[in-house]
Amino acid sequence: MKIFSSPTELQSHIVNLKKQGKSVAFVPTMGNLHQGHLSLVELAKQKADIVVCSIFVNPTQFGPNEDFDSYPRTLEQDTKKLEQVGNQILFTPTNNDIYPQGKEVHSSVEVNRLTDKLCGASRPGHFRGVTTIVNILFNIVQPDVAIFGKKDYQQYLVIRAMVKDLMMPIKIIGAEIAREPNGLAMSSRNGFLAEQEKKQSSYLREVILLSQKQLEDPKKDINEVKLQACKLLQNKGFKVDYFEIVERNTLELATSNDNELLIAAAAWLGKPRLIDNLEVNLN
Ligand code: AMP
Repeated sequence: MKIFSSPTELQSHIVNLKKQGKSVAFVPTMGNLHQGHLSLVELAKQKADIVVCSIFVNPTQFGPNEDFDSYPRTLEQDTKKLEQVGNQILFTPTNNDIYPQGKEVHSSVEVNRLTDKLCGASRPGHFRGVTTIVNILFNIVQPDVAIFGKKDYQQYLVIRAMVKDLMMPIKIIGAEIAREPNGLAMSSRNGFLAEQEKKQSSYLREVILLSQKQLEDPKKDINEVKLQACKLLQNKGFKVDYFEIVERNTLELATSNDNELLIAAAAWLGKPRLIDNLEVNLN
């Protein structure tokens, strides 16, 4: 596996690969890699000749009171895991490589829809940070295809909107959520859960599945379903940030006329804020 930290060196390397007619698939990450990330790399391998994975804990997508400093950084283990799954290029820039003038004065990219809801409502500026870094990384890596996990469903939609609006010639693919044996969506932040919380963590998925069943009842009241879900989570020790049932293309609150729904939830369990979601099709 080739490892680059310099954006310009990676950029020229990719230009050469492209001259040889190679296609490029890209998996951006913040590291502390788990099976969810590696499943994205596996999918990327099926989509192009060359797979590039980046590891960069992006400061501009963390709020002032969030966990940027304590975010797990495990580059050595990550490198081994990527080698084992056959990733070909790893990009590990520093803050200075990405934001040489300082992140405060750096130009940014903003998507003007989808970003004010769900995680965007509770994490102001988060998606501006995400779209800015993804844009920078896209310009360095010049991928034909990029893979994003549906665990971060809103992020996946926002990136799709950015690529469409800015006419970027990149295909965005959404990958299914990889889960722990108890159903918890894998996340770099799960390591912050205490032993007891690890056991409780399965309830997030269970409550989402229960809500799905309730939504399938034609007589359902969507608000009732949400309220009940919040109560169940609170009783199990979660501090709910949001539990929403939305139309899954627009993220607008679902009405009884919508068929393509997304149940999306974010809740703290002890230290970490966990997120999860489920696509629901009603007929
Ligand atoms: P992160 O390192 O958290 O920024 O995530 C990097 C990429 O991996 C994003 O596209 C995430 O959506 C994706 N990802 C993270 N966790 C999972 C998971 N459990 N299943 C599938 N994709 C995931």
